[in-house]
Amino acid sequence: MTGPFGRNSLEALRFGGAGVVAATREELGKLLRGEVLLGVPLRERTTYRIGGEAQLLACPADLEDLRRLNAYLVDRSLPSFVLGGGANLLVSDRGFPGVAVHLGGFSRLAFKEGVVNAGAGLVLDEFIKSCLRRGLVGLECLSGIPGSLGGALRMNAGAFGAEISDHLVEVECLDGQGRFKVLQKDEVAFSYRQALRIRETYITGATFRFPPGCKEQLFLIREDILARRRQRQPWQYPTAGSVFKRPPGHYAGKLIEDAGLKGRVLGRAQISPKHAGIVINLGGARASDVLGLIRLARQEVLRQFRIELELEQELIGFEREESG
Ligand SMILES: Cc1cc2nc3c(=O)[nH]c(=O)nc-3n(C[C@H](O)[C@H](O)[C@H](O)COP(=O)(O)OP(=O)(O)OC[C@H]3O[C@@H](n4cnc5c(N)ncnc54)[C@H](O)[C@@H]3O)c2cc1C
Repeated sequence: MTGPFGRNSLEALRFGGAGVVAATREELGKLLRGEVLLGVPLRERTTYRIGGEAQLLACPADLEDLRRLNAYLVDRSLPSFVLGGGANLLVSDRGFPGVAVHLGGFSRLAFKEGVVNAGAGLVLDEFIKSCLRRGLVGLECLSGIPGSLGGALRMNAGAFGAEISDHLVEVECLDGQGRFKVLQKDEVAFSYRQALRIRETYITGATFRFPPGCKEQLFLIREDILARRRQRQPWQYPTAGSVFKRPPGHYAGKLIEDAGLKGRVLGRAQISPKHAGIVINLGGARASDVLGLIRLARQEVLRQFRIELELEQELIGFEREESG
């Protein structure tokens, strides 16, 4: 697959040499109001702190900019993917031979009683705090989840029995054909860590409606949630949270632990001795180290328990056979 959202498109199209990339940057620089950066190390933009360079990083300033960027990418069949906070991504050591699109400029935030309209580029936890400060109930259990609001919607991020979609009214997005859409919550088909109908779109914003509550109590819940997260997760190391989705009726971490893999090291990556569902970067880990542990965990859990583990994290810039 090439063009927007063709994240594993390396075999389909290579971007060409440095001259082509520089010329593309020049063209995009003229076309867009937002920044276009050359050779951006993705290890600096992912929570794993792993990954090579994106040839280009484009940061459209607004919807019109995004439309122009999308049309350009589609026209030239250039590979691209949307980079949020990089909290759920494993990027290849070779990087991404195409355009990473970052929507950090979509950061509006408007409150009207319990109704909140927010840009997808907001940092999720900042957005949560803004809502709690106004005594709005519903996001407190998601406190401390890293990443952007757009990424949270795309992943239907959740914790402690709550999901980002719980109080959602509608999502705004631009599809690969350049059509702006406002989808009602039930049109999106949200399920566990999935948002089917907005999977291949640029999510630009969302509207929520929250019931009112007591601000002080909400912050107490938030503190409790943050403490529990610190207790359970290996927060001292770079990670991207849970590697696998929860298989029905099981916990991925427990299965990996029961398979005898807790603490297993490969290169500079390790299956966390604190939580076997998480892989940590011990410092200087390569994507291939993490991928090796992912493969091992999958193989052993399948062999020992006949249960297939499905990745929650997304792989960026890998050849199809590498990621299989
Ligand atoms: C320490 C730690 C703890 C975590 N705990 C949790 C947890 O409790 N619950 C949970 O659900 N997750 C958790 N995660 C995973 C991660 O925080 C979530 O998946 C988060 O929602 C990812 O958001 P992001 O902006 O970083 O997205 P990214 O990682 O940048 O991208 C993830 C996917 O979303 C797409 N995407 C991002 N933004 C947009 C957009 N605007 N439009 C379209 N597509 C977009 C990307 O292309 C990619 O496919 C944790 C991660 C870490 C590092």
